[in-house]
Amino acid sequence: MILTATDLTEALRTVLDPDIGKDLVTLGMVKETRVDGSRAAVTIELTTPACPMKDKIRGDIEAAISAKAKALGASYTGVEVTFTADVRRSNERTKDGSNPLPNVRQVIAVGAGKGGVGKSTVAVNLAVALARMGAKTGLLDGDIYGPSAPTMLGLEEVATQSRGNMLLPFEVHGIRAMTIGKLVDADKPLIWRGPMAHGAFKQLATQTEWGELDYLIVDLPPGTGDVPLTLSQLLPLSGAVIVCTPQRVAQDDARRAARMFEQLGVPIVGVIENMSSFIDDTGREHDLFGKGGAETMAHTMELNFLGSLAIRTALRINSDRGTPLANWNDGALGAELDHIARNVAARISMLSYQGKYIQPTISVR
Ligand code: ADP
Repeated sequence: MILTATDLTEALRTVLDPDIGKDLVTLGMVKETRVDGSRAAVTIELTTPACPMKDKIRGDIEAAISAKAKALGASYTGVEVTFTADVRRSNERTKDGSNPLPNVRQVIAVGAGKGGVGKSTVAVNLAVALARMGAKTGLLDGDIYGPSAPTMLGLEEVATQSRGNMLLPFEVHGIRAMTIGKLVDADKPLIWRGPMAHGAFKQLATQTEWGELDYLIVDLPPGTGDVPLTLSQLLPLSGAVIVCTPQRVAQDDARRAARMFEQLGVPIVGVIENMSSFIDDTGREHDLFGKGGAETMAHTMELNFLGSLAIRTALRINSDRGTPLANWNDGALGAELDHIARNVAARISMLSYQGKYIQPTISVR
């Protein structure tokens, strides 16, 4: 005898999504089951192409179907597992009930307690990493006081284009990007008063023709003042990533940033430690700032730790040259960036299930 499609579905009912703890059938992730003689084939739809659990899920599926075949005494020589991805939509409305970005599935803010910690570096490379994994990704450089995207994406010589009253995003390095830095004179100081800043940010976000996006990464202005606070409320944020360096003084600022997002009801995706240590050109590691400080802070605050980035000359050079894809020429650097991107995507997937399969937990401090 051979297995039937129903047998495959029964076997898949025993395979749990490692993050959510429910089985693949209940979660609606099984898109196809086929049997061809002694071979089986299943198609599983993940909630992100950047899923860090692909290999684990594949292994669990193989084991479950093999066990089912054994129990039934069916002739079985293996299963072909195909993964597709459909990024879920998250909360789509801002507090006032409007939905300014209907074609964007997940809006992820990158914030920091203060400037200079690598917030823009993380935002740019997170966007590029997700795009490299197959997600349709945009980057909104909303750091209106110090837009870095023109340099970090190499946009200096690229002309701004518009259609009607909509700006066309810059299609570079696999992402779609927009930055205030291309719309104002780069050498003139930007003196934004509150309402002007809000107006410019909102226009930039909503009058850019993003098209369909899985993820829009928003590089926020640093700090916890009026401007980052108000900008965080203008878009329907799925979550916020906080970038922090390891030193104690940086942690204190990051804590304030975390509190700001908490007060606004924006879920915190987690903390990224940047400039964790210095890796010299021979590959030797030097601890400059107290590696692990931001990770400890994250654990103390019961926030997720999403990964760390070392200080590397290559990362600085590629940022200055506007060639982020070159970061993946360095295996260790590329691996750090991919690790962070996978963790962000996995956590965002979890957040979009919240209330559906996962009960929110209330922690009282
Ligand atoms: P922020 O957005 O927080 O002000 P940036 O991302 O602009 O900070 O980073 C400040 C400077 O530090 C940039 O020149 C950037 O290239 C550099 N930089 C940031 N992180 C790293 C790192 N991990 N290794 C090397 N250089 C870095």
